[in-house]
Amino acid sequence: VQPVRSIPDWLRGRATHHPTHPAIVAPEGTWTYRELYDAACEYAASLRILGVSQGDRVAVIAKRGSTYAFMLHALMQLDAIVVPLNWRLTALELAKQAADAEVALLLFDEGATPLAKDLNREFKPPLGMRQIELLERTSERVERMHLQLTRAHAIIYTSGTTGTSKGAVITYQNHWWGAMASALQLGLSPADQWLVPMPLFHVGGMAVLIRSVIYGTTVVIHNGFDELAVNDALDAGGITLISVVPTMLQRMLQNRQGGYPPSVRCVLLGGSAAPKSLLERALAFGVPVNQSYGMTETNTQATTLQSVDALRKIGSSGKPLANMRVCIDGPLGPTDAAGVEGEILVSGPTVIAGYWNRPDANEKSFRDGWFYTGDIGVFDTEGYLFVLDRRADLIVSGGENVYPAEVESVLAQHEQIGEAAVVGRPDETWGQVPVAFVVARAGERPTEEMLTQYCRTFLAGYKVPKAFYFVDALPRNASGKLLRRALKERLEA
Ligand code: ATP
Ligand code: MG
Repeated sequence: VQPVRSIPDWLRGRATHHPTHPAIVAPEGTWTYRELYDAACEYAASLRILGVSQGDRVAVIAKRGSTYAFMLHALMQLDAIVVPLNWRLTALELAKQAADAEVALLLFDEGATPLAKDLNREFKPPLGMRQIELLERTSERVERMHLQLTRAHAIIYTSGTTGTSKGAVITYQNHWWGAMASALQLGLSPADQWLVPMPLFHVGGMAVLIRSVIYGTTVVIHNGFDELAVNDALDAGGITLISVVPTMLQRMLQNRQGGYPPSVRCVLLGGSAAPKSLLERALAFGVPVNQSYGMTETNTQATTLQSVDALRKIGSSGKPLANMRVCIDGPLGPTDAAGVEGEILVSGPTVIAGYWNRPDANEKSFRDGWFYTGDIGVFDTEGYLFVLDRRADLIVSGGENVYPAEVESVLAQHEQIGEAAVVGRPDETWGQVPVAFVVARAGERPTEEMLTQYCRTFLAGYKVPKAFYFVDALPRNASGKLLRRALKERLEA
């Protein structure tokens, strides 16, 4: 028996067998599978004229979802590697990524024109660049019959929360197995419509675009997140799944008195842990929340908590998806025994083979068949994973572990506190002690004594911050993730 190395092109199959099924619904238009395939093949022909060929890295900065989707599919017809760029980053940050990926061409849409031009100023000689709307669609077509499963499809940069972002090389088989695992976890209906108000340049957004083609279902794109538009779309019926990060769900539920119609069968939460108060509010409204844990390197979810368990296992990120192994790096090696705290290890066919151009990081993170996530977690007695925090942010105080996330979530529940961040401060006696940066809600500011008292009721003494610094805002990266390393630097200064 020959191992499976290639399979028929997904989009071609959909366009042949389900040509009139809607593939993409966006504010700017709706496209069937036949129309999407035609666009992909015709754009591929014009990109080939520009010199794009197999294995070339092509960067895409697009603010419009449909424009981005056309380029994504066109580049696949050419077997080129797409490098989606995050338009929330600065031109300088993007130039670093484009240089790292050694991109051959920069594609941008109208909305991203100034940014693309600024980015290209960092290159001497400048990169080839083209505005997507001005690409010609001719009668020429490039059509790919098969896709090679182990071939690279994309390089997606990690969010850069713990340091410099790294290019995760996503293969076709990462997508295929991700699609299978997700379907087994969430179920699948031909009538599914998956709304992605999230940016499409992260794995979460890209996965929905690719999976919909594998499934033959419909992606609904919103260009930018607007909670009213999302709520209207869900209330209108038709949408069955939606992917959001916790801050989006927070905004969606803020001014609502109830949940969504039963057509919405899954709200997939990813990117970071959700505050308990948000989960409780969502569950009280009967919103079918599925908290997931994953990362760029696992091409989305590695574990997911199904909504039926959401209340019973609040705070957990659930169980491993099909074909995934998740263990804790215990003192005696990888283990899934309950109660062992340590670094989370994952392995399985959605895990990337490595980072682009980063032998040092590859050596550190990929060992003995495991990907070392850099996150700390623990399994409970029923095999549910609880993600505690990032290893880099762990505070060890007098030999005791303090997880900033735990302290932050207690602080965030104080009625005069909007949000809080906790980091370790060097200390002669304890090695490190936790200190908190706090954003007060409008109105009266609590005193340090009040906050200390408040924390003592919920937390062991060594977890109670030894200082509280009031700030106007917390530093966050372009994905909205808290940058604790920036606060540590502020402490050192
Ligand atoms: P970088 O790797 O460049 O420092 P990053 O890790 O933030 O950035 P992403 O791949 O976008 O980049 O994010 C994945 C990380 O997000 C996980 O490793 C984890 O730290 C965090 N995360 C994701 N889901 C959860 C969750 N359910 N609970 C807690 N943390 C989560
Ligand atoms: Mg990471």
